Amino acid sequence: MGTREDRADEITAEVRSWLSEHWDPSLDGREWRGLVVDGGWAYPSWPARWFGRGYTRAESAIVAREFARLGAPWGALDVVSGHGQIELQIGANVLIAHASDGLKAQLLRPILMGDLRACLLYSEPGAGSDLASLQTRAERDGDEWVFNGQKVWTTVAQLADFGLLIARTDWDQPKHQGISYFILPMHQRGVEVRPLRQMTGDAQFNEVFITDARAPLDHLVGELNDGWRVLRTALAFERIVMGSTGTRSRDERRLPVGASIDLIELAQRTGRSEDRLVRQALAELFILRSVIAWNGERAAAESARGDASPAASLGKLAMSRLLHTSAGLADSLLGPAGTLYGPEVPDANAANVSLMMAFMNSIGGGSDQIQRNIIAERILGLPKDLATDRDVPFRDVPKAAARLELGGGRPR
Ligand SMILES: Cc1cc2nc3c(=O)[nH]c(=O)nc-3n(C[C@H](O)[C@H](O)[C@H](O)COP(=O)(O)OP(=O)(O)OC[C@H]3O[C@@H](n4cnc5c(N)ncnc54)[C@H](O)[C@@H]3O)c2cc1C
Repeated sequence: MGTREDRADEITAEVRSWLSEHWDPSLDGREWRGLVVDGGWAYPSWPARWFGRGYTRAESAIVAREFARLGAPWGALDVVSGHGQIELQIGANVLIAHASDGLKAQLLRPILMGDLRACLLYSEPGAGSDLASLQTRAERDGDEWVFNGQKVWTTVAQLADFGLLIARTDWDQPKHQGISYFILPMHQRGVEVRPLRQMTGDAQFNEVFITDARAPLDHLVGELNDGWRVLRTALAFERIVMGSTGTRSRDERRLPVGASIDLIELAQRTGRSEDRLVRQALAELFILRSVIAWNGERAAAESARGDASPAASLGKLAMSRLLHTSAGLADSLLGPAGTLYGPEVPDANAANVSLMMAFMNSIGGGSDQIQRNIIAERILGLPKDLATDRDVPFRDVPKAAARLELGGGRPR
């Protein structure tokens, strides 16, 4: 049996040989993407049957290194571009782990080619942190599923081609059972998307009203009534992605806030780089970023083995702290100017928008408090929260209103 070094050499040789045959900087992006996807390089850790090569994470890192050496775009993060990237990454990985071969064959290549966009249809007016209280229903009608209900806070729903939808399929089972996971085509009459305005002034998320919307039977992902298991993998994956935003900074000596600020440079420019408290805060941020990156590796390795890793919650929580603290530090370095807002004051604007956007990480994908509950229960082994509705048929559980309009009616 060969050693790990032999295997690494073998993979290095294989990637180099493929690149020397195919890499041509004059190829247009789409043509190159097609070659990468069909060559099995876009997601080398996926099975060879499904656009991958069955590599481990460490082996995939060799592929990344060799592509980077030539400046050739690589990997799902580069190959799948544009809006909805996180949602697509989640969708693709959920499909790989749980979907039927038919659904994989329909969706994986277009996803990897960047031809489709996805959204996450999970939260409802009465089901956020307590997602298992969801009331959107799915019923079988011949060879189709019919869906009715309302989702809310759905990021990029206005751009999505399909939604990853959780819906109730059996009301006589307790709340965490009787839920199923579906792919819902978004471009149909029964799906109405209404934008919600957020505090940054943008409208990236939406209410989604679902009225007799339909999907083919094979759009069920995983087993009927076993959607909570699928969802746990999907949420762990989402938390890994959210917990790793910005830890892969191209220049490790920088501490970016938004696209334009580097905290080190800002501290120098504002004459604060010798201030001991500022230096200590910067050092803490560097340390936090490194620890988050290592934790992310561990969570991703555990998830690759099929476990919904609770380590993903640690990373997401720590990332929230990193984002809030770095934006807060940028604001305090700017002093009174940090209170300004608008395009004429780019630094203050970047700091303020980052401060607001940090809440995306501490609420979306499960709030900081919920991550703390997961860490307490699944990592520290503390007793579970009291719940009186866990073993009761969902039909008998008292419920919040299933439909609620937040956006003030029709889109403007
Ligand atoms: C920017 C952004 C993007 C989002 N994108 C999507 C999306 O694409 N798709 C989607 O489905 N959802 C999305 N969400 C929704 C998000 O998942 C929910 O907002 C989140 O899970 C919290 O649910 P909630 O808003 O209903 O708050 P609630 O669940 O009502 O929580 C209110 C407060 O109570 C706390 N709390 C609740 N239960 C507990 C508990 N058991 N222990 C301790 N504290 C608790 C919470 O931490 C929070 O502070 C997004 C949210 C944001 C902010």
